[in-house]
Amino acid sequence: WGTTVGGGGKGLEDKIREKDKADRATVEKVLDPATRLIMLNLINNEILSEIHGVISTGKEANVYHALSGPRMDEQRRTLALESGGAVQPVCGEQQQPVHLAVKVYKTAILAFKDRTPYASEDFRLRAAYKKSSHRQMVKMWADKEMHNLKRIRAAGIPCPEPFHLRLHVLVMGLIGDSHGWPAPRLHNIKFEDTTLDEALATWTDMYRQVLGYMRIMYQRCKLVHADLSEYNLLYHEGKPYVIDVSQAVGHEHPRALDFLRLDIKNMSNFFERKGVDCLPERAVFNFIVL
Ligand code: ATP
Ligand code: MN
Repeated sequence: WGTTVGGGGKGLEDKIREKDKADRATVEKVLDPATRLIMLNLINNEILSEIHGVISTGKEANVYHALSGPRMDEQRRTLALESGGAVQPVCGEQQQPVHLAVKVYKTAILAFKDRTPYASEDFRLRAAYKKSSHRQMVKMWADKEMHNLKRIRAAGIPCPEPFHLRLHVLVMGLIGDSHGWPAPRLHNIKFEDTTLDEALATWTDMYRQVLGYMRIMYQRCKLVHADLSEYNLLYHEGKPYVIDVSQAVGHEHPRALDFLRLDIKNMSNFFERKGVDCLPERAVFNFIVL
Protein backbone atom coordinates (compact mmCIF):
# COMPACT_ATOMS: atom_id res chain seq x y z
CA TRP A 1 0.00 0.00 0.00
CA GLY A 2 2.81 2.39 -0.85
CA THR A 3 0.77 4.12 -3.49
CA THR A 4 -1.53 7.03 -3.08
CA VAL A 5 -5.09 7.98 -3.73
CA GLY A 6 -5.42 11.69 -3.24
CA GLY A 7 -3.16 14.70 -3.58
CA GLY A 8 -3.30 18.46 -3.63
CA GLY A 9 -4.73 20.97 -6.05
CA LYS A 10 -7.01 18.68 -8.02
CA GLY A 11 -10.72 18.24 -8.38
CA LEU A 12 -12.40 16.09 -5.79
CA GLU A 13 -13.06 13.18 -8.10
CA ASP A 14 -9.53 13.36 -9.46
CA LYS A 15 -8.17 12.90 -5.98
CA ILE A 16 -9.79 9.54 -5.71
CA ARG A 17 -9.27 8.65 -9.34
CA GLU A 18 -5.62 9.45 -9.80
CA LYS A 19 -2.64 7.10 -9.91
CA ASP A 20 -2.55 3.65 -11.41
CA LYS A 21 -5.42 1.25 -11.92
CA ALA A 22 -4.18 -1.40 -9.53
CA ASP A 23 -4.16 1.19 -6.80
CA ARG A 24 -7.64 2.32 -7.63
CA ALA A 25 -8.82 -1.23 -7.36
CA THR A 26 -7.35 -1.66 -3.87
CA VAL A 27 -9.07 1.33 -2.43
CA GLU A 28 -12.28 1.51 -4.37
CA LYS A 29 -13.24 -2.13 -4.42
CA VAL A 30 -13.93 -2.04 -0.71
CA LEU A 31 -15.60 1.35 -0.47
CA ASP A 32 -19.34 1.44 -0.84
CA PRO A 33 -20.82 4.70 -2.23
CA ALA A 34 -21.75 6.10 1.21
CA THR A 35 -18.28 5.46 2.60
CA ARG A 36 -16.73 6.91 -0.53
CA LEU A 37 -18.71 10.08 -0.03
CA ILE A 38 -17.56 10.38 3.59
CA MET A 39 -13.93 9.94 2.49
CA LEU A 40 -14.36 12.58 -0.22
CA ASN A 41 -15.85 14.94 2.34
CA LEU A 42 -12.95 14.40 4.72
CA ILE A 43 -10.59 15.33 1.88
CA ASN A 44 -12.76 18.23 0.77
CA ASN A 45 -12.86 19.59 4.34
CA GLU A 46 -9.07 19.23 4.45
CA ILE A 47 -9.12 16.97 7.47
CA LEU A 48 -7.37 14.41 5.31
CA SER A 49 -5.01 15.28 2.48
CA GLU A 50 -4.42 11.80 1.08
CA ILE A 51 -5.91 8.37 1.50
CA HIS A 52 -3.35 5.64 1.01
CA GLY A 53 -3.78 1.90 0.82
CA VAL A 54 -5.30 -0.64 3.12
CA ILE A 55 -3.57 -1.50 6.39
CA SER A 56 -6.02 -4.25 7.22
CA THR A 57 -9.15 -5.79 5.78
CA GLY A 58 -11.25 -7.76 8.20
CA LYS A 59 -14.65 -9.13 8.89
CA GLU A 60 -15.94 -6.07 10.71
CA ALA A 61 -13.75 -3.24 9.52
CA ASN A 62 -11.17 -2.08 7.01
CA VAL A 63 -8.35 0.18 8.13
CA TYR A 64 -6.66 2.64 5.75
CA HIS A 65 -3.51 4.68 6.02
CA ALA A 66 -4.10 8.40 5.44
CA LEU A 67 -2.35 11.74 5.82
CA SER A 68 -3.74 14.68 7.73
CA GLY A 69 -4.90 17.79 5.90
CA PRO A 70 -4.31 21.44 6.83
CA ARG A 71 -7.60 21.67 8.71
CA MET A 72 -6.56 19.14 11.26
CA ASP A 73 -5.65 21.40 14.15
CA GLU A 74 -2.25 21.86 15.71
CA GLN A 75 -3.12 20.20 19.00
CA ARG A 76 -4.28 17.07 17.26
CA ARG A 77 -1.28 17.04 14.96
CA THR A 78 0.99 17.15 17.98
CA LEU A 79 -0.83 14.20 19.53
CA ALA A 80 -0.64 12.24 16.27
CA LEU A 81 3.05 13.02 16.02
CA GLU A 82 3.62 11.23 19.31
CA SER A 83 2.38 7.97 17.86
CA GLY A 84 3.03 8.03 14.13
CA GLY A 85 5.84 10.49 13.64
CA ALA A 86 6.01 13.25 11.04
CA VAL A 87 5.74 12.44 7.39
CA GLN A 88 9.04 12.73 5.53
CA PRO A 89 9.37 16.44 4.60
CA VAL A 90 8.08 17.50 1.22
CA CYS A 91 9.60 20.59 -0.39
CA GLY A 92 7.57 23.76 -0.13
CA GLU A 93 4.84 22.32 2.04
CA GLN A 94 3.46 24.74 4.62
CA GLN A 95 2.43 22.33 7.28
CA GLN A 96 3.79 18.83 7.65
CA PRO A 97 1.02 16.22 7.54
CA VAL A 98 0.89 13.38 10.04
CA HIS A 99 0.06 9.73 9.59
CA LEU A 100 -3.44 8.59 10.39
CA ALA A 101 -5.40 5.37 10.51
CA VAL A 102 -8.95 5.48 9.15
CA LYS A 103 -11.13 2.67 10.41
CA VAL A 104 -14.18 2.01 8.24
CA TYR A 105 -16.75 -0.22 9.90
CA LYS A 106 -18.40 -2.58 7.50
CA THR A 107 -22.03 -1.89 6.93
CA ALA A 108 -22.84 -5.31 5.48
CA ILE A 109 -25.51 -6.92 7.65
CA LEU A 110 -23.59 -10.12 8.33
CA ALA A 111 -20.41 -8.44 9.51
CA PHE A 112 -21.86 -7.59 12.89
CA LYS A 113 -24.16 -10.47 13.66
CA ASP A 114 -21.78 -11.92 16.26
CA ARG A 115 -21.91 -8.79 18.28
CA THR A 116 -25.48 -9.03 19.48
CA PRO A 117 -24.54 -10.68 22.82
CA TYR A 118 -22.33 -7.73 23.70
CA ALA A 119 -25.05 -5.30 22.83
CA SER A 120 -27.93 -7.13 24.45
CA GLU A 121 -27.17 -5.68 27.89
CA ASP A 122 -26.12 -2.28 26.72
CA PHE A 123 -29.05 0.09 26.91
CA ARG A 124 -27.97 2.44 24.15
CA LEU A 125 -27.03 -0.37 21.81
CA ARG A 126 -30.11 -2.41 22.55
CA ALA A 127 -32.24 0.56 21.60
CA ALA A 128 -30.21 0.97 18.45
CA TYR A 129 -30.58 -2.66 17.50
CA LYS A 130 -34.29 -2.48 17.95
CA LYS A 131 -35.36 0.58 16.10
CA SER A 132 -32.49 1.95 14.05
CA SER A 133 -31.39 1.16 10.59
CA HIS A 134 -28.49 -1.18 10.23
CA ARG A 135 -26.22 1.66 9.22
CA GLN A 136 -27.06 3.54 12.39
CA MET A 137 -26.22 0.47 14.40
CA VAL A 138 -22.80 0.26 12.82
CA LYS A 139 -22.35 3.96 13.48
CA MET A 140 -23.00 3.18 17.13
CA TRP A 141 -20.03 0.80 17.21
CA ALA A 142 -17.78 3.46 15.71
CA ASP A 143 -19.13 5.92 18.23
CA LYS A 144 -18.41 3.52 21.06
CA GLU A 145 -14.86 2.99 19.84
CA MET A 146 -14.23 6.74 19.77
CA HIS A 147 -15.67 7.15 23.24
CA ASN A 148 -13.73 4.21 24.71
CA LEU A 149 -10.45 5.28 23.10
CA LYS A 150 -10.86 8.70 24.72
CA ARG A 151 -11.42 7.17 28.13
CA ILE A 152 -8.52 4.76 27.77
CA ARG A 153 -6.20 7.45 26.53
CA ALA A 154 -7.23 9.87 29.30
CA ALA A 155 -6.13 7.21 31.80
CA GLY A 156 -2.65 7.19 30.27
CA ILE A 157 -2.86 3.81 28.55
CA PRO A 158 -1.05 3.79 25.19
CA CYS A 159 -3.67 3.66 22.42
CA PRO A 160 -4.52 5.57 19.24
CA GLU A 161 -5.84 9.11 19.62
CA PRO A 162 -9.29 9.38 18.06
CA PHE A 163 -9.68 12.54 15.96
CA HIS A 164 -12.80 12.50 13.85
CA LEU A 165 -15.91 10.43 13.66
CA ARG A 166 -18.24 10.63 10.70
CA LEU A 167 -20.97 8.00 10.78
CA HIS A 168 -19.14 4.66 10.50
CA VAL A 169 -15.73 6.16 9.67
CA LEU A 170 -13.27 6.83 12.50
CA VAL A 171 -10.07 8.83 11.94
CA MET A 172 -7.35 8.21 14.52
CA GLY A 173 -3.62 8.55 14.98
CA LEU A 174 -1.56 5.87 13.29
CA ILE A 175 0.53 3.77 15.64
CA GLY A 176 3.59 3.30 13.51
CA ASP A 177 6.78 4.81 12.18
CA SER A 178 7.56 8.05 10.35
CA HIS A 179 7.15 6.32 6.97
CA GLY A 180 3.58 5.38 7.80
CA TRP A 181 4.28 1.70 8.42
CA PRO A 182 1.87 0.50 11.07
CA ALA A 183 3.32 -1.08 14.20
CA PRO A 184 3.16 -4.89 14.29
CA ARG A 185 0.63 -6.75 16.39
CA LEU A 186 2.06 -8.75 19.31
CA HIS A 187 1.09 -11.82 17.32
CA ASN A 188 3.57 -10.89 14.58
CA ILE A 189 6.66 -9.89 16.54
CA LYS A 190 9.78 -11.98 16.52
CA PHE A 191 12.91 -10.99 18.38
CA GLU A 192 15.54 -12.32 16.02
CA ASP A 193 18.48 -10.08 16.83
CA THR A 194 18.38 -10.70 20.56
CA THR A 195 19.33 -13.56 22.83
CA LEU A 196 16.59 -15.80 24.20
CA ASP A 197 17.06 -14.25 27.63
CA GLU A 198 16.62 -10.76 26.27
CA ALA A 199 13.53 -11.78 24.32
CA LEU A 200 12.04 -13.43 27.41
CA ALA A 201 12.77 -10.33 29.48
CA THR A 202 10.96 -8.20 26.87
CA TRP A 203 7.94 -10.52 26.77
CA THR A 204 7.80 -10.59 30.56
CA ASP A 205 7.94 -6.84 30.63
CA MET A 206 5.12 -6.64 28.10
CA TYR A 207 3.02 -9.12 30.07
CA ARG A 208 3.34 -6.92 33.15
CA GLN A 209 2.49 -3.81 31.19
CA VAL A 210 -0.65 -5.43 29.77
CA LEU A 211 -1.76 -6.51 33.27
CA GLY A 212 -1.26 -2.91 34.36
CA TYR A 213 -3.36 -1.66 31.45
CA MET A 214 -6.15 -4.08 32.32
CA ARG A 215 -6.15 -2.88 35.91
CA ILE A 216 -6.20 0.81 34.98
CA MET A 217 -8.85 0.15 32.35
CA TYR A 218 -11.01 -1.55 34.96
CA GLN A 219 -10.34 0.74 37.90
CA ARG A 220 -10.11 4.11 36.23
CA CYS A 221 -11.90 3.78 32.88
CA LYS A 222 -14.48 1.37 34.35
CA LEU A 223 -14.06 -0.74 31.22
CA VAL A 224 -13.31 -4.32 30.25
CA HIS A 225 -11.77 -4.66 26.79
CA ALA A 226 -13.68 -7.88 26.02
CA ASP A 227 -11.59 -8.75 22.95
CA LEU A 228 -8.08 -8.52 24.31
CA SER A 229 -5.59 -10.68 22.45
CA GLU A 230 -2.23 -10.59 20.70
CA TYR A 231 -4.16 -9.34 17.64
CA ASN A 232 -5.47 -6.24 19.38
CA LEU A 233 -2.21 -5.08 20.89
CA LEU A 234 0.37 -3.28 18.75
CA TYR A 235 4.04 -3.16 19.70
CA HIS A 236 5.48 0.30 19.30
CA GLU A 237 8.50 1.99 20.87
CA GLY A 238 8.98 -0.73 23.42
CA LYS A 239 5.44 -0.91 24.70
CA PRO A 240 2.10 -2.46 23.80
CA TYR A 241 -0.69 -0.22 22.47
CA VAL A 242 -4.31 -1.16 22.99
CA ILE A 243 -6.56 -1.05 19.90
CA ASP A 244 -9.98 -2.27 18.77
CA VAL A 245 -12.10 -1.19 21.72
CA SER A 246 -15.54 -0.82 20.12
CA GLN A 247 -16.82 -3.89 21.95
CA ALA A 248 -15.39 -2.92 25.34
CA VAL A 249 -18.05 -2.98 28.06
CA GLY A 250 -18.60 -0.95 31.19
CA HIS A 251 -17.67 -2.78 34.38
CA GLU A 252 -21.32 -2.69 35.43
CA HIS A 253 -22.24 -4.84 32.41
CA PRO A 254 -23.71 -8.12 33.71
CA ARG A 255 -21.11 -10.14 31.83
CA ALA A 256 -18.17 -7.80 32.38
CA LEU A 257 -16.37 -10.20 34.71
CA ASP A 258 -16.87 -13.12 32.29
CA PHE A 259 -15.30 -11.03 29.52
CA LEU A 260 -12.50 -10.03 31.89
CA ARG A 261 -11.72 -13.67 32.75
CA LEU A 262 -11.61 -14.43 29.03
CA ASP A 263 -9.25 -11.50 28.38
CA ILE A 264 -7.00 -12.75 31.18
CA LYS A 265 -7.05 -16.28 29.79
CA ASN A 266 -6.16 -15.07 26.28
CA MET A 267 -3.25 -13.06 27.61
CA SER A 268 -1.97 -15.88 29.85
CA ASN A 269 -2.15 -18.37 26.99
CA PHE A 270 -0.28 -16.07 24.66
CA PHE A 271 2.46 -15.02 27.08
CA GLU A 272 2.90 -18.59 28.39
CA ARG A 273 3.62 -19.63 24.81
CA LYS A 274 6.33 -16.96 24.77
CA GLY A 275 7.85 -18.57 27.85
CA VAL A 276 6.67 -16.00 30.36
CA ASP A 277 6.08 -17.31 33.87
CA CYS A 278 2.52 -15.98 34.15
CA LEU A 279 0.69 -15.47 37.42
CA PRO A 280 -2.27 -17.76 38.17
CA GLU A 281 -5.35 -16.36 36.44
CA ARG A 282 -7.18 -15.97 39.75
CA ALA A 283 -4.37 -13.83 41.09
CA VAL A 284 -4.46 -11.67 37.95
CA PHE A 285 -8.23 -11.31 38.29
CA ASN A 286 -7.87 -10.12 41.89
CA PHE A 287 -5.06 -7.77 40.94
CA ILE A 288 -7.33 -6.16 38.35
CA VAL A 289 -10.61 -5.87 40.23
CA LEU A 290 -9.52 -5.40 43.86
P1 ATP B 1 -11.64 -7.09 11.91
O1 ATP B 1 -12.11 -7.82 13.13
O2 ATP B 1 -12.66 -6.96 10.87
O3 ATP B 1 -10.29 -7.52 11.42
P2 ATP B 1 -11.11 -5.16 13.74
O4 ATP B 1 -12.38 -4.75 14.36
O5 ATP B 1 -10.30 -6.23 14.40
O6 ATP B 1 -11.41 -5.57 12.31
P3 ATP B 1 -8.98 -3.38 14.41
O7 ATP B 1 -8.42 -4.48 15.24
O8 ATP B 1 -9.31 -2.11 15.12
O9 ATP B 1 -10.23 -3.83 13.58
O10 ATP B 1 -7.95 -3.02 13.25
C1 ATP B 1 -7.52 -4.02 12.36
C2 ATP B 1 -6.01 -3.95 12.18
O11 ATP B 1 -5.64 -2.66 11.66
C3 ATP B 1 -5.24 -4.09 13.47
O12 ATP B 1 -4.94 -5.43 13.76
C4 ATP B 1 -3.98 -3.29 13.21
O13 ATP B 1 -3.02 -4.10 12.57
C5 ATP B 1 -4.45 -2.21 12.26
N1 ATP B 1 -4.73 -0.95 12.99
C6 ATP B 1 -5.92 -0.56 13.51
N2 ATP B 1 -5.83 0.65 14.08
C7 ATP B 1 -4.55 1.06 13.91
C8 ATP B 1 -3.82 2.26 14.29
N3 ATP B 1 -4.41 3.26 14.93
N4 ATP B 1 -2.51 2.34 13.96
C9 ATP B 1 -1.92 1.31 13.31
N5 ATP B 1 -2.55 0.18 12.93
C10 ATP B 1 -3.84 0.04 13.22
MN1 MN C 1 -8.91 -6.38 15.87
